[in-house]
Order: sequence, then C-alpha cells, then structure tokens
Amino acid sequence: MTQWVYSFGAGHNEGRAEMRNLLGGKGANLAEMASIGLPVPPGFTITTEVCTAYYANGERYPDDLDAQLRAGLARIEAAVGNSFGDHHKPLLVSVRSGARVSMPGMMDTVLNLGLNDATVEGLVAASGDARFAWDSYRRFIQMYGSVVLGVDHHRFEEIIEHIKLDTGKNEDTELTAAEWHRVVHGYKEMVQEVTGHPFPQDPWEQLWGAITAVFGSWQNQRAVTYRRLNDIPAEWGTAVNVQAMVFGNMGEDCATGVCFTRDPSTGENIFYGEYLINAQGEDVVAGIRTPQPMAQLKAKPDERSMELAMPKAYAELVEVRATLERHYRDMQDIEFTVQSNKLYMLQTRSGKRTAAASLKIAVDMAREGLIDNTEAVKRVNPAALDQLLHPTLDPKAKRKVLAKGLPASPGAASGIVVFSADEAEARAQKGESVILVRIETSPEDIHGMHAAKGILTTRGGMTSHAAVVARGMGRPCVAGCGGVSVDYSNQVLSSGGVQVRGGEILTIDGGTGEVFVGPVAMIEPQLSGDFATLMEWADQVRRMKVRANAETPLDAETARKFGAEGIGLCRTEHMFFDPARIGAVRQMILAETEQGRRAALARLLPFQRQDFIDLFGIMAGLPVTIRLLDPPLHEFLPHSDAEIAEVATSLGANVDDMRRRAQDLSEANPMLGHRGCRLGISYPEIYEMQARAIFEAACQIGKDTHKPPHPEIMIPLVATRRELEITRAQIDRVAQEVFAEVGYHVEYSVGTMIELPRACLTADAIAEAADFFSFGTNDLTQTTFGLSRDDAGKFLPLYIEKGIFPKDPFVSIDPDGVGALVRIAAEKGRGVKADIKLGICGEHGGDPSSITFCESVGLDYVSCSPYRVPVARLAAAQAALASGGGVDRTA
Ligand code: ADP
Ligand code: MG
Ligand code: MG
Repeated sequence: MTQWVYSFGAGHNEGRAEMRNLLGGKGANLAEMASIGLPVPPGFTITTEVCTAYYANGERYPDDLDAQLRAGLARIEAAVGNSFGDHHKPLLVSVRSGARVSMPGMMDTVLNLGLNDATVEGLVAASGDARFAWDSYRRFIQMYGSVVLGVDHHRFEEIIEHIKLDTGKNEDTELTAAEWHRVVHGYKEMVQEVTGHPFPQDPWEQLWGAITAVFGSWQNQRAVTYRRLNDIPAEWGTAVNVQAMVFGNMGEDCATGVCFTRDPSTGENIFYGEYLINAQGEDVVAGIRTPQPMAQLKAKPDERSMELAMPKAYAELVEVRATLERHYRDMQDIEFTVQSNKLYMLQTRSGKRTAAASLKIAVDMAREGLIDNTEAVKRVNPAALDQLLHPTLDPKAKRKVLAKGLPASPGAASGIVVFSADEAEARAQKGESVILVRIETSPEDIHGMHAAKGILTTRGGMTSHAAVVARGMGRPCVAGCGGVSVDYSNQVLSSGGVQVRGGEILTIDGGTGEVFVGPVAMIEPQLSGDFATLMEWADQVRRMKVRANAETPLDAETARKFGAEGIGLCRTEHMFFDPARIGAVRQMILAETEQGRRAALARLLPFQRQDFIDLFGIMAGLPVTIRLLDPPLHEFLPHSDAEIAEVATSLGANVDDMRRRAQDLSEANPMLGHRGCRLGISYPEIYEMQARAIFEAACQIGKDTHKPPHPEIMIPLVATRRELEITRAQIDRVAQEVFAEVGYHVEYSVGTMIELPRACLTADAIAEAADFFSFGTNDLTQTTFGLSRDDAGKFLPLYIEKGIFPKDPFVSIDPDGVGALVRIAAEKGRGVKADIKLGICGEHGGDPSSITFCESVGLDYVSCSPYRVPVARLAAAQAALASGGGVDRTA
C-alpha cells in the first residue's frame, strides 16, 4: 500500500526536511519543525506522488486516498479536540499548496475550511465572539469562492462596499457580527448566481474541492510558464497541506506575522520582519493595514513593536529563531500566528537575500560556529559576488528612469554625456566623470571606453563589442538600449520625448540595464572585511590558479588588487591602438616592403618594450602570458574616406595608396582570415620585434630587481605543429640574440593558444613544440559551432529562447562540443608532455559554470578579466569542493 498522507504535529511526525521531493518544501519543513519541538498546529501532507498519479490516471485519485485522508483528519481531531463538521466544536483547517520549490502561480491558501451555516454557530459559541466567527466565515467563502470556484474577487468586495455604504462605516474592522452575517448572506446568493450552485455546505465536499483546486493549479498557465522559465519538470508535482487552524484574529492578544531570522537586505544579525495584531494570514501582505516591526530596535516612534506589544510571545519567538538557525544552519524566512498569547509556527524555509546579505551571513555564521569555513565558501553565489565589486545605486536614492537596455556589465556610474571616444578621453584627463554614449563601439573606441566611468550603447547584445570590452575593463555598461536614439551631429540623445544633451548628467546601472536622467547617489564596494575573509577561505580550498587578462598597468594593478596570481592573457594588439603608436602601426601596415615594415617596427619597439617593463614590474615575478599580434591588420586602419585622408596626411602618405592598401587588406571573413600566427609567418619581422621587446624588458627587470620574470610567449591561432615550430624557432633565435647582446639571461616558455578544432585534435603533435596550452575558448566556440560572434545576434537569442542552445555558448562553455575538444586536447597534450601547463583565457575563464568544467578537466589555471578575479577565485574553490578534490586547509 502506498502511503499518500504523512502526518505532522501533536507528537506524530512522519516527515522530515529531507523529504521535500515527496512532501514539498512547506510540508517537509512543517514536519521538521514539529519534530524538533516547535509549536506547529497538527496537520498532514498529501504527497506530490498523489499529484503525479492524479494526472497519470486522467485526473482520478488513487482509490485508497480517501481512507488515508480520513485517518489523517481523525488524528488532527483527536489532537485538537474538535471534529470536522461538528455543530458545537467544529474543526477548521487550512489547505495550502507546497511544491519542492516555492512557485508563484500555485493556488492560494484557503483558510477556515469547515465552516458552514451550522458550524459557524458552533464557532460563535465556542469562541464567545460572534464577530470573529462571522468574519471568519465570510473570509472562508471569499477565499474558497475566488480560489476554488473561480468567482471574481471584485464581486465579493462589491458586497462589502455596499454594506459599508449602507451602515456609514469606512473600515472592515468597524463591522459588527450582524453586519458580517449580512455579508455572508450576500456572498452566498452571489456565488449561487455566478456558479449556478449553492455554496458547498458539506465540509468534506469543501475539502475535496480545495485539494483538487491545488492539484489543478499545478497545470494552470501561470504555473506552467513559471516552470518552463525555471527548468522545473512537470513530473515534480505539488503537495497539499491540510492543517488545523489557529486564529490570529481573535482579539488584541492575537497576531500574525512574517519574518526573517536576519536582515535579508544587509545580513545584519537582527530579527527582521512584520506582524499585525488581530489579523489573519494574508492580511500582513495584503496592505489593508500597516504591519508593525518585530524588534523594538527597528521601531519608529509611531510604531508598536511586537517586542513591546506581546512580550511573552515575542520572547518565545526569539527562542524559536535561535533554535531554527541552529537546526537549519541558515537564515530562515518564517511565518507565525499568535492565538491568545500562544505562539504557533506555520512555515519556515531558507530565506532569499541580497548579494551583500549572503556574504555577511555566510561569514558571520562561520564565525558564530553555525557552519564551517568551507560551508561558508559554498554558500555565496559567485555571480552575486560580482555585484559587490562595483559601486551600486543607493536603494534609497531618488531616481528618474529614462530607458532600459541590457545589463551588459555590472556596476553603476554617473557622469556627463559624451558622444565620442576622443572627447571622453579629453574630458576624463581634466578630471571629469564621463558616460560614453555610442550607437555601438569598435576597437577604435577603446581609449574612450577606458577613460569613461560607464558606457551606453543603443545597439548590440550581451556579447557585442561594447559589452565584452566593458566587462573586461570592469566598466559598467548598458548595451542595446533601443529605446534611446542618438544624434551625433546635434550631440543629443532622446528617449520617450526626453532629451539629454552632451555635457548633461546621466546615470547607468549595468546590473539592471536602467538609464537615469541626472545623478543618483551610490554605495562604494567594500573589498576588505567580510569580502577579504571569504576570499581567504576560498583560496585555502581551491586547486586551480586564477590569473587575469590584462595589458595596461592599470589593469595589471587592479588584477593584483583582486588577487590574480599572474597574467593569463596580455593582448599585445591593445597596445597598438594607443594614439601615440597607431601612426607607426599604420606606417608598418602601409609599407610595401620588408625594409619599410622594419623601419616602422623599429619605431614601435621602444613603446612595446616599455609596456612589458611596466607589466613585469607590477607582476613582480608572477607568470605573464603574452600573446603575439592576433587580429587582422585592417583593424588598425581608418575606414571612412575622411579618416583615411586625415591619416594619410599625418603620415605624409598618399591618400590613394592608403585607400588601395585598406582595400587590399579587407577580407570577406576576417575572423578566419589573415590573422594570428598566419601574420607572424607572412611578416616574421612583426613577431621578431615583439619577442625582442619582451626579452629586452625581461632582462632589464631581471638586472634591476634580481627577480627575473618568466615570460610565457603565446602564439595565436595555431592549427598545425609546423606553424608553431616556425614561429617558435624565430622566438628562440631572438632570445639568444638579446641574451648575447645584454649579457643576461631569463627563463621563458613558448606555447600556443588552442582555439581551432584542428589544434585540439592534433594536440599531441602540437604539444611536442609547446611548453603550454592556453585554451582560447572564444575563438574555439566560434570555430566549433561555425558561427561568428559578430553575426550571431540575429539568431542566437532565438536559439536560446527555443532551448536549441541551453545557454549562450559565449557566456558559458558548451561542455558537449567545445568542452569535448578541450578535454581531447588536454589528454593528448598530457600524453606527450605530462607536465604541460594548461589554462584557459577569455570570457569563459570568469564564468562559474565554465570554471567548474575547467576543474573537471584538471586545468592548471583560469584567466579572466581583472574585475572577475574574485568571482573566479570563489568559483574555483566551489568547483574544487564539489569535485571532492579540494584541499581543506581551513582547519
Ligand atoms: P504562501 O505559500 O502563499 O505563503 P501559506 O500556505 O503559507 O501560503 O499561507 C499563507 C498564510 O496563511 C500563512 O502565512 C498563515 O498566516 C496563514 N495560514 C496558513 N495556514 C494556517 C493555519 N493552519 N492557521 C492559521 N493561519 C494559517
Ligand atoms: Mg507562506
Ligand atoms: Mg583568439
């Protein structure tokens, strides 16, 4: 015989917290609370299996359910001493839905079930309070009528309004027993008229009706949609809880409330919540009366705290709070009712909280000894941590929303509006805060993006240039804000009739995508205190190293501040865009001969050398991986005719030559074109110059500081062993030349970016020429899927919406395809060279689920943008703990 019904309360607890799959969260925790001695009104839970069976059998209940229900109810009757349907001492129950995870869309709770024309008289006699009894009856008809019978709730409100008008009363609380009696009469007539049936008087009919309504609500549109959006399978089903009523609305020594065991927005260890005297259930959230605070500490002068108003029940609740936290070892969200000064617990669950609260609660609880340090590390969601590393808008600050775009890079920023990268840079140098507003951005805007406090674009998605670069730089960014139109020529942006001119102030929130007119007050991030403590605990358990992608001294410093253990990707081309050098770069590209190129490269060498001196200096002996030039050359050339003319004049070059060269260089598929090591092989002098800059810088730092850096030189876009052999030989030759010239020597390695499927499949051969692999999963994703990130905006959102791709593969690594290639390459590489160093760079290196994947492949490190380093440190620790491979050094 299947057990369909599980009792709780009054010393008979058949459920436990771990049984939430069977009993739903609410039912499992009611049983758990009762079993640890907390005052829970007795009841029973009808299992989720009944829901599943009900739908599997064409909406029919199991045959033996009825008998089990009757037995469950008999136990409640015995415990309470009242009987269901009894005219003198009627038992009233609530019917409450409860799935494994709390789910909006499910049926609302029905209270006071069991009342009818006869039992209401019993309740009058038993309570000695006719007003309470008739009010309870009308509440029941109202809830059951709207929730179970589907009568529009306005119809009920009309009747109350009518009687209030008739009696000249304003508040519900002023109505007398006789008046509520009239309301009940009106309700019943109206229900009969709307449904064609009299309001059910038989308590058993009422009970089955409510139970069926709960199971029915599992398949209503709202619930189905919610499940689809949150990946909740329909097979989970919901449970139903039937529980003896306790009354918070029986007088001034009664109350009902909802609270958190700690402050869910700050995490502060203080009892936080609201209660209402002489009220029932949903009155607290309904907003008819203003709820009052729990703790006196939080009470304003005109408020009456529960601590003062009901000291005895409050003291009991404070004890329950401690018991619950000790038992569940987490912050709880609880619901309670006080009847005649006696406390009853009606619900507990782990409480939702802000990112800030989750950090504080985890660290506090570890310090209080409720959990250990590794548990604290597991408790904080790395994605939430991201929010804490950037300034955020003060929740209390006034604001005026202008428009909403995509939350492309977290953090908030205020500044004056500028429409060009050059102006952004110029004004920032004068110490102004600027927001760079562009229709979209391109590599030429990098300096302006760097100078800006925040970036707003009106086109492009979460993986647009603006979004990717902004995240990399840690700049807040709202992208694809289609509601805003930008007029460059008139230096104005507008949205919904509101105009903001260049020079006026705008605020963006990259965490929500909102854009505001004018300044909004901000809260600065806290990198010390709890944050530092949690990071320390995370570092003690993680196995993988965390490096940063950085090329500027500022980024490198930020990376170290956030705890990076080296640079995993220094993109040398970013150094080429600097206004002081772009001229030499263009001259090099325009040169038709090797000699001409060498002359231009000689101009670049000192800049590039200084870049590496700065980086090696800041990284003080930590590993630095430098990727040689990767993008196709045309990216460095001007595009519009006007720009071409301007650049040609400044270089003293012929405009037509320049235009022809730009045309020569343009490609149909630059991503798959003349780039990466293909450039290094066609123009060996470029990589030669870069290698020379690296070795000269390394030797100089080594001589100056006696801490020689260990450069790791990385060749991009290698598909074959031969490509790596050729470029490597060149680098080795330059190294020997430089060492001989300066009379000094440093250790270095040469490796490759693994970013093409062929490289993965032939990684054993490539490994013979490589000291390390760094997986370039951005390009590997593009080449594995055969899709270009720049063009994916047209279909990728649809693919994700339709579930064809479970997630955006540029945000989270595709474990089955791209991941499989990474795995193959790692195995083949290690097969040839057991100690080959393996890492990942690119956007995925800062994504928690991709980091979990990297742990499973056993990579040595992940590398991500400086601002994501703490996220990666935490995610790497969690991945290590989850794989069981974590080393617990916290003890
Ligand atoms: P929800 O899932 O929407 O929170 P609940 O089933 O928790 O719905 O019910 C909402 C409220 O109804 C509870 O917080 C409580 O105040 C009241 N309630 C539910 N069951 C009872 C009961 N047996 N006695 C008194 N009040 C109850
Ligand atoms: Mg509830
Ligand atoms: Mg690449």
